[in-house]
Amino acid sequence: MVDVCIIGAGVSGCSVARELSKYDLKTVVVEKAPDVCEGTSKANSGIVHAGFDAEPGSLKAKLNVEGNKKMEELSRELDFSFKRNGSMVICKEKEGIPRLEKLLEKGRINGVAGLSIISGDEARKMEPNLSKGVIRALLVPTGGIVCPFELTIALAENANVNGVEFFFDNCVTDIKHEGDRYRVITDKQEIEAKVVINAAGVYADKIHAMVSTHPMHITARRGQYCLYDKACGTMVSHTIFQLPTALGKGVLFTPTVHGNLLVGPTAEDIDDKEGTNTTASGLSEAKTKAADSVENMPAGRQMITSFSGLRAHEDGDDFIIGEPEDAENFIDVAGIESPGLSCAPVIGSFVADMVLPVFNNPKEKPNFIAKRTGIPHVALLPEEEKEKLIKENSAYSVIVCRCEMITEGEILDAIHRPLGAKSMDGIKRRTRAGMGRCQAGFCTPRTVELISRELGIPMEEVIKSGRDSHVL
Ligand SMILES: Cc1cc2nc3c(=O)[nH]c(=O)nc-3n(C[C@H](O)[C@H](O)[C@H](O)COP(=O)(O)OP(=O)(O)OC[C@H]3O[C@@H](n4cnc5c(N)ncnc54)[C@H](O)[C@@H]3O)c2cc1C
Repeated sequence: MVDVCIIGAGVSGCSVARELSKYDLKTVVVEKAPDVCEGTSKANSGIVHAGFDAEPGSLKAKLNVEGNKKMEELSRELDFSFKRNGSMVICKEKEGIPRLEKLLEKGRINGVAGLSIISGDEARKMEPNLSKGVIRALLVPTGGIVCPFELTIALAENANVNGVEFFFDNCVTDIKHEGDRYRVITDKQEIEAKVVINAAGVYADKIHAMVSTHPMHITARRGQYCLYDKACGTMVSHTIFQLPTALGKGVLFTPTVHGNLLVGPTAEDIDDKEGTNTTASGLSEAKTKAADSVENMPAGRQMITSFSGLRAHEDGDDFIIGEPEDAENFIDVAGIESPGLSCAPVIGSFVADMVLPVFNNPKEKPNFIAKRTGIPHVALLPEEEKEKLIKENSAYSVIVCRCEMITEGEILDAIHRPLGAKSMDGIKRRTRAGMGRCQAGFCTPRTVELISRELGIPMEEVIKSGRDSHVL
């Protein structure tokens, strides 16, 4: 019997978990995957949107603008990578200017600060690689970029340190409403909870239908991306959005917070909620559209990988956060498509405001630990700090991933910290080992050995991610 059971360890579920961990409540998270951040939260643009795009008055607009404002403070508290690099929406045709002005107006209504429309030349002064065809741009100083894995993992770790228990490899198969509580049934166990939070991403409609007859329908809307080598990471410093035209929504062209270049995403509705494969035509579309934003699109050989993510698009086109009329104390956190990541700093408190009255508004615990320190990236530390760390533990002097310069010490830290990594992808998302130019070609054998040694399992049992994804 617990107070709160959260379904889903993506950025939404982890944000709620962290917020509730401030209170004396027994909170658990059940997640079907073997780690946090295995759903949409691991495959997106990593943009902290400013909030000019969302419909005024919508929940998306409100939480986006508030989340954007709080991201910097949260990144300092929980030690994840965030940069306020600013963004631009570019316009290449005269007919587009009124639409750009509308976007500016919408942004102002939503409360986005500092918006202005600049000329093509002014935009190119800031971004010399921008297409010569750009005639105007909406300049958005509050736009930012974040590492989605670090953000999600940091929220989860901090929630865990403050008492939230995580059950991985637990797929919720049914929920029974019995009197004043719910019985959450997974393929491993049953959990009784007073309050259930449905943060199951593209599956939130399925979980919702287990307790409510009110309709909810989520479409998986796939977005495909091309990721380029760090050699291209300085082509632009702002995130460049294209103004949607009659021919469709554009794609973005952005540096990532770790210095790569990211191009995409496409948008295609698919039936398969697991359909995160990429396609030749999707990647080609992303590249062709992106080439329209800049003068010199990087060569194909500079692309180091591709991936896709699924937006949880609800038919009503807004986030659904709240109780369905026929399921008291069951709270949907559903339809969290973009800008869900940007809203993460405030989704937790927004949901907590609904949960806490059920428990008579408890006071914050005096022993809540607000700060979390991430894994040190040794290669980027000042010389003195690096030497100190290596003196304390020589594993910080052994390079395992040569592309990203990740040491054995960082990998050991990833394995042994709260909610530590148990798979190759778990290591990758916590340390970046395997995220570089060679895409784990060189470091895989060594990382397999380290996981095997540290977890005390045979090398044959080491997984990439998910059940049965054995590396050997
Ligand atoms: C292409 C694309 C680009 C995007 N770009 C941006 C961006 O730049 N900026 C931005 O702010 N937002 C962006 N987003 C949106 C953002 O990624 C999402 O809003 C956010 O990640 C959603 O998080 P979540 O926790 O709600 O869902 P998820 O991360 O999908 O988490 C849901 C979790 O629930 C688990 N689950 C599902 N069913 C069950 C079950 N039966 N039992 C147990 N567990 C279950 C899943 O395994 C998963 O881990 C983008 C999304 C996409 C797809």
